[in-house]
Parts: sequence; C-alpha cells; structure tokens
Amino acid sequence: MVSGLPMTHSLPQIDSRHRRSVEPISTPDRLLLGPGPSNAHPTVLSALARTPIGHLDPLYVDLMGEVQELLRYAWQTDNRLTLPMSGTGSAAMEATLANTVEPGDRVLVAVKGYFGNRLADMAGRYRADVRVIEKPWGEAFTLDELDSALQHHKPAILAMVHAETSTGVCQPMEGVGDLCRKHDCLLLLDTVTSLGGVPLYLDEWKVDMAYSCSQKGLSCPPGLGPFTMGPRAEAKLAARKDKVPNWYLDVSLLNQYWGSDRVYHHTAPVNMNFGMREALRLLADEGLDNAWSRHRCNAEALWKGLESLGLEMHVPEALRLPTLTTVRIPDDVDGKAFSSYLLNTHGIEVGGGLGALAGKIWRVGLMGYNSTPENVNRLLNLFETELPRFREGSCVAA
Ligand SMILES: *Cc1c(COP(=O)(O)O)cnc(C)c1O
Repeated sequence: MVSGLPMTHSLPQIDSRHRRSVEPISTPDRLLLGPGPSNAHPTVLSALARTPIGHLDPLYVDLMGEVQELLRYAWQTDNRLTLPMSGTGSAAMEATLANTVEPGDRVLVAVKGYFGNRLADMAGRYRADVRVIEKPWGEAFTLDELDSALQHHKPAILAMVHAETSTGVCQPMEGVGDLCRKHDCLLLLDTVTSLGGVPLYLDEWKVDMAYSCSQKGLSCPPGLGPFTMGPRAEAKLAARKDKVPNWYLDVSLLNQYWGSDRVYHHTAPVNMNFGMREALRLLADEGLDNAWSRHRCNAEALWKGLESLGLEMHVPEALRLPTLTTVRIPDDVDGKAFSSYLLNTHGIEVGGGLGALAGKIWRVGLMGYNSTPENVNRLLNLFETELPRFREGSCVAA
C-alpha cells in the first residue's frame, strides 16, 4: 500500500451490474458462396493481423501510394483521385454522389435491380433532380434505350450498376461512355461485384466515377470502399458553389491526405489498408486477365453443372455475371429451407433473392479467393445429392 493516498473505500463504488465473464470470440469457418462477403485470402488475413503503424508513418504513407497504384491497375485507370474510402462499398457509392451532385442537378439512374434503387435514393438525399429509367430484374439496358433516355432527360450524371448483384446481370458497357460524352453528362458506374472478377476498363469505357468494395472480388473482409474519379468529375467538384455536404466523404479534403500533402483528415483504418494492399498484390500477381478468365471458367462450370441437374439460370448466358449466379428455385422446392440446410449442416452460405426476386432465386457467388473448381464441385455435389430431399412430397425433407 502507498502511504498518503486515500484508501480505496473512499473511491466511488464500481458499478458491477454489467460485469460478467464472457467467452473469447469464436466464429465458424464458413464457405461464403453468397452475394458477399466472400472469404478472404489467408495472406490477407495475416496482413490484417499485423501490428498497426501510425497513419502518418512514412512507411504507411508509402503503402498508401502502393494501394492507389494497385487500385488503378485493377480498374485500368490513370485517375489521380483513386483511393480506398474508409467504409464499405456504400460509403464509396455515397462519396461519388456527395462530391459531384449539387442541389437541383439532374441525375438519371438506370435501374435494373436493387442497387440501382439505392443510387437513386442516395442521389435524392443530396437533392438531385432524380430521374429513373427501369428494366425488369434480370435484363440490361441497350445503347438505344440509354441514348433516348439521355436525349429526353438531359442529365448532368448518368448512374448505373455494372454488376447488379441482386439479379446476376452484367451491364454491357461498350459505347455507354461515348453516349455520355455526346450528351455532355458524367458517367458514374457501380463496380462493386465486378472489380477483380469481371473485365473492367474504366478509362477505355470513359467512366468518370466508380466505386467498389473490399469483400467481393478482392478477397478481403468488408471495410474499405475503393473510389475513383476522373478529370471531368474533378472539374465538376472544383466548380461547386458550396462545400461538399458530407465532411467525411469530401474528396477535396481526403485528397489532402491521400495526395502529396499528407494532412490528417481521419485516422486511416491502417490494418484494413494492410489487407487491401495484400489483396491487390495477389490480384496483380495473378494478373487481371488470368483472374478474369478464372472467374469465367469456374462460373461456366457452375452453370453447366446446375443446368445438367435440371435447374434454370435466371439470366440469359450473354448477360450473366461470372461473380454472381442467380438460379431459379424450382416451384416444388422451399429455397430458404435448402439454403438454411447448406449453412447449418455444411457451413456453406448461399444467398436468397432481394425485392422482386425474393423467394424466387438463389444467389451463388464465386468471387475472388472463392472462385475455384473445388468450391464449384463441392456445391454441385450438394445440389445433386441433397436438393431432392427438399422437393415437395419428399418424405425425407422434414
Ligand atoms: C454489395 C454491393 C453494394 C454495397 O456495398 P457494401 O460494401 O455492402 O456497402 C453496392 N452495390 C452493389 C452492386 C453491391 O453488390
């Protein structure tokens, strides 16, 4: 005991109402073959577990530059303003709109699934004059449809989703950027489920803004939202009359940290960026071409296998996403019961449908680290041997 200090009984009593013995964390090893998150690569997990370093440490600053350069490669862009937003894909999604939309700006959203609607919702919150064109969930827009909508609405921004995770449709992008230049509007593209798994050529396609996430095609856990903005979008940002109405996502402030000045903005989630660097390093090491064809081959094997079991794909082959397959649930099957069984008995996650497709489809993701022939075979075997038990009238199902 230290003399001269008050005795402990003179201190306030500790409130022990919420104190209890809690077990250390324990989580199962699931195989995540749903719409995301996907499993992270083991070396990404090791990178995440490293001791943090300061977010202004010169070594960290070097790492930031590497992450930016690797992101430019993954997106095939030279955009100076390319960085991972601290937050999930939705944060980067919101950043594209927060930075470029001024009240009253017309934003045309091409909606063909759940995430198109989210773009329209966000644009409205930044007081855009939101216009929407829609296609049924499972289809894509043609150039003619986009051309006449641009002609009719004359928007400042056309926003659309490349890989619509809710439907499994890949929107063909050739020519869309040229249309946007012709109609003098910016092109904003959601590449959340395409980055790393589906051919993407941002500069060649003349995309002005794009965003993605860490947990789908990049084999990293959720937590970062890659963001990029080209010179035409930067010019719109520079010409704003008012401040960007979102402090956290203001790219002009963030660029003082990610650009050469290295001015503190918020404490970077350094370990997430360790993981992101490793995920992007793995992608660069494999090579984009190889990664894209791996996703394609494995998805084709899945489609063939499921079709040979009599199952139907929701999307015509020409528009199908290699990263996310939508499979129609047969009329006599309780789709939710089967996916619950896969999760609880085999530790495999497969997604269900959203919105208009709820109860009608399963969503099977083969993204990043998870796009392997072994995973395809494992899933196909389960569909073959176990699905029959979930058909109506089957006596084993209950
Ligand atoms: C997952 C997803 C998002 C949202 O990303 P989060 O990381 O969940 O915030 C946005 N768009 C599409 C197409 C997605 O699949």
